[in-house]
Amino acid sequence: MSQILQAIRGMNDILPDEAELWEQFEELVRDWLRGYGYRPMRMPIVEPTQLFTRAIGEVTDIVEKEMYSFEDRLNGEKLTLRPEGTASCVRAVLQSNLLYDGPRKLWYMGPMFRHERPQKGRYRQFHQVGVEALGYAGPDVDAEQILMGARLWDDLGLTGIELEINSLGQAEERARHRIDLMAYLEKHRSQLDADSQRRLQTNPLRILDTKNPVMKELVEAAPKLIDYLGEASLKHFEGVQAWLKDAGRPYRINPRLVRGLDYYNLTVFEWVTDQLGAQGTVCAGGRYDGLIEQLGGKPAPACGFAMGIERLLALWTEQGNSVEKPATDVYVAHQGEQAARHAFKVAERLRDVGFTVQLHCGGGSFKSQMKRADASGAIIAAIIGDDEAQANEVTVKPLREAGEQQRVGLDVLAETIGECIFGQESE
Ligand code: ATP
Ligand code: MG
Repeated sequence: MSQILQAIRGMNDILPDEAELWEQFEELVRDWLRGYGYRPMRMPIVEPTQLFTRAIGEVTDIVEKEMYSFEDRLNGEKLTLRPEGTASCVRAVLQSNLLYDGPRKLWYMGPMFRHERPQKGRYRQFHQVGVEALGYAGPDVDAEQILMGARLWDDLGLTGIELEINSLGQAEERARHRIDLMAYLEKHRSQLDADSQRRLQTNPLRILDTKNPVMKELVEAAPKLIDYLGEASLKHFEGVQAWLKDAGRPYRINPRLVRGLDYYNLTVFEWVTDQLGAQGTVCAGGRYDGLIEQLGGKPAPACGFAMGIERLLALWTEQGNSVEKPATDVYVAHQGEQAARHAFKVAERLRDVGFTVQLHCGGGSFKSQMKRADASGAIIAAIIGDDEAQANEVTVKPLREAGEQQRVGLDVLAETIGECIFGQESE
């Protein structure tokens, strides 16, 4: 036998037990987003590479080293598996002119791809729920998006997720801060790691975002962007905080919160937990007022966030939650040719009235079929031999509780099974 091929490192199969958890999560998420008036979007997974270099910025981890890019083998076009959803979402909105009659609240969910070092909570194919409000200037919408997160954690029964916020101000404010920051970092150049030394000229703000613990002290003492904010930026930031206070939602201002993507301005926020080890950010977002114009649209403000589904589900299971296996109501066992045809009909008929039914496939003795029925978790076995088939009847056998096996006609089958499952009072 030849060797079994393995999936690409950092790209995971989601097997049935886990996939059922995902489905439950996804249903909750859909309801939650509907509750806020957000509408669904689905964008392609592959986009022109240029979309991301333009949107995310050349000097970012993502564009520098994390993108899965390749050339279309027919026309040589440069393509990339999307590393995030905001750029695609904005592209789609502009392409279809969705902002022509006012602002839009949109969301999407799906796989993202980044060539990172795989570890717990960090994968090469991972999944996000992305939420974008396009055409809104805030700060009300910023605050609402932040508070949306809080409601989802409640809906999921998750505890211990804390809110950090910051303001990145506007480009001119960041430019003034940058001058002082560069001078400061230059003075301490010898303490910078290789990545940071390289970024010193190109993108010093990103150095504050470092995950290198050795540089922690240095970064903490660096000039803080918030001290460079002008009146309008401060007012926006205070506006967001006023809404959060009104809602009674505690938060922490983290001056080092600068986000990994270039397109953010003003409000940035993260939801973090200390229960997942190093990969503790489950949700992150903020305002990106310049992106729509940068991608060729009429200037319009916008705000959004994305959450990492793997991390949220890890936390969800960590905190002792699990899904119940979906129940099979009826397992249909049968033997003989006529019985098989009868069984097929019986199974469909039961599905017609809403039962979940597993029809035995693959033959075998009644004894082995009953073993399968038991393993399936079904509540009832419907047993059909040629005898039953001839009489247009079915033998109904409760599998989970003591109860009489009974042989009934098709006309009362659903009713009989209903009584076995739900009790007499269901009539
Ligand atoms: P990090 O700082 O952890 O690298 P990021 O700033 O790159 O995160 P974003 O681009 O803001 O992350 O993505 C939003 C969310 O998506 C993150 O907060 C996280 O929950 C999740 N996420 C990002 N990258 C990965 C990954 N490689 N594997 C799993 N989840 C991820
Ligand atoms: Mg990252």
